[in-house]
Amino acid sequence: MRRHAIVLVLALAIAATAAAQTYAPPKYLVSEEMFQMVAEELSGSLAKENVIGITKYHRVQASPGFSEAREWVVEQLKQMGVSEVEVEAFPSDGKRRYQTYVSPLAWTVRSGELWMTRPYKQRLCNYRDVPMCLTTLSNGGEWEGAVVDVGRGTEAADYEGKDVAGKVVLATGYAAMVHREAVIGRGALGVLIRPRESDRPEHPEMVRYNGLWLKWEEKEKAGFGFQLSSKQAEQLRTFMEVGQVVEVRAKVDAELHEGKLEVTSALFRGSDPSASLGAGKPEQEIILVGHLDHPKWSANDNASGSGLLLEIARTLKALTEEKGVKLRRTIRIMWVPEHFGTIAWIDSHRDIGSRAIAVLNLDMVGEDLYKTNSRLRITRTPESLPSFLNDLVENVAAQTAAANLTDPVGTKNLFHYEVTPYDPGSDHDMFNDSTVGVPALMFGHWPDWTHHTSEDTVDKVDPTTLKRVGVLATAAALWLAQAQSVDWAAAAHLSAEAILKDGGLGSVDGLEASYRDDSAWFSGPPGLRTRMNFKKVDQLLRPIERIVQPDRVPALERIGWLVRDLVANWESASTAKPEHKSPVPRRLFIGPLGDSYASMWFREALGEGYGWWRDWEGKVPHWETFVYEVLNYTDGKRSLAEIEDAVAAEFGDIPDGVVEHILRDLEKVGLVEFTPPKAD
Ligand SMILES: [Zn+2]
Repeated sequence: MRRHAIVLVLALAIAATAAAQTYAPPKYLVSEEMFQMVAEELSGSLAKENVIGITKYHRVQASPGFSEAREWVVEQLKQMGVSEVEVEAFPSDGKRRYQTYVSPLAWTVRSGELWMTRPYKQRLCNYRDVPMCLTTLSNGGEWEGAVVDVGRGTEAADYEGKDVAGKVVLATGYAAMVHREAVIGRGALGVLIRPRESDRPEHPEMVRYNGLWLKWEEKEKAGFGFQLSSKQAEQLRTFMEVGQVVEVRAKVDAELHEGKLEVTSALFRGSDPSASLGAGKPEQEIILVGHLDHPKWSANDNASGSGLLLEIARTLKALTEEKGVKLRRTIRIMWVPEHFGTIAWIDSHRDIGSRAIAVLNLDMVGEDLYKTNSRLRITRTPESLPSFLNDLVENVAAQTAAANLTDPVGTKNLFHYEVTPYDPGSDHDMFNDSTVGVPALMFGHWPDWTHHTSEDTVDKVDPTTLKRVGVLATAAALWLAQAQSVDWAAAAHLSAEAILKDGGLGSVDGLEASYRDDSAWFSGPPGLRTRMNFKKVDQLLRPIERIVQPDRVPALERIGWLVRDLVANWESASTAKPEHKSPVPRRLFIGPLGDSYASMWFREALGEGYGWWRDWEGKVPHWETFVYEVLNYTDGKRSLAEIEDAVAAEFGDIPDGVVEHILRDLEKVGLVEFTPPKAD
């Protein structure tokens, strides 16, 4: 009956909050005064000027083109008078590893041209005109040879009966894999990558981004790479189909060498000496991050985020120095080389997980919605890391939409945005990882037909969109940098409401029924944002409790106490389960598992065993997120059985043994160790 009593207490507490009217949270967490101040200062037009400035650089990570863009960003910060700017550099060479990520080789490129020479002469690519048609990390040199179509070109089977030595392969696979099979493995001269037929056929002249991502030891054997539009590829294939020999000549002026991953931070220090209860400490940080890399032009991805971060820096400087806005915590604005630079930086700032309270990742934030048929997506934290941050940002987004902000030279369309479940693929992954544990949201636009192509140009960047996302991110960051006890109480209230809504617990009856059926998981009906279990409620409130003292904040105390009681009750009910005798895996690395064409260490270390991963990748929807969450639940406290439970609650039932296989494979390569079952 203990359990039933708790339900009643919970019900009463919620009823009391509603009935007594002692605390009515504001509609918007950010005060109208602060919101207006940000909206009046932040300029979408200036942000777009920054975006244009950044698109002029060929910003390949660890390479001189990136450094030039980074220098330009630092110069803008200097001109604004931002006094505290740090640039940290990490060696990068195609062999050095930061946790599970292999740092990329650096690439200096001056020119690159591809000509068809037979059956007649025609230029297919000129780096000068379309930088993206030259494959990133293409070696320098001059080559001439006949073209052989190898289909996908990523597996040995694609080369059966074909002699590609001394020739040039035409393929649809990822350039790095095709190059490894054809050039490194079989002596081909280089690769021409064409789009798959199903890939955006309505844009036949568009050129896609692709990279060779060479390892250090492949440097000497490396050939060249170019991307063809589907129109160009069809032209070549038409000749080949009727038996004509197609020959090409390639000339690239480039070198592969050691470089450095440069991470730039602009710091706006928290310094309020009259900090009151719950006001936090100056060393606590709110991080705004955007990746500065990608080949020229890549306007929305991600000159938009990088350029907008500059305008946010200017806005923060104006508000703190001219409008009397005080920061209690520090706001750090970061320009990074995506994934690789971020993990290197986190690796050398191991305390960031305990100091940072929130991250906002700006990746593709300036889109002209008319031209890209897109909308802003606000990507929530993963289910393994529920956070009040989701509710805060959703609240500020509603405030931003209601304000109907436009830029004088931008579009006048409506603010289309949606809040979406976790989706990996950018720097928010690095912070949401359980070994770092800082809740991180992403602002980005999707879908986007121009993504990673020559069509991602500045004419598709809209000052109005930049203004809206900029005001939203800045207002949320300022709230986080200023919040004290009264604000946290309002946030806790907002989160508590969201928990009830997410859990489908709109009424007390519903709450009681869910609790009484003794189910392990507190699941909402299908389609609701989050499945809940009691431990997750605790996790959600942990970031709040880390900052305020619950015993001094009435609203928070009530929620905190409630949650603690629920969790205690759940723990005592569940410890009797036999599966709690299962071993406890512990992670021996930080950050997500880096495993891609651009970072091959893990799959090579695992060797033959990686075939299992390839098989399962096709069987489990959202495999990447699945692996990410398995690792996030592997916190050194949960047993294997508990991890399997947590994963099942998030992804539905999955065949027995998949989670264990993942963790045992990681054990084989020294990334995880298993410790004996927990004692009772
Ligand atoms: Zn991006």
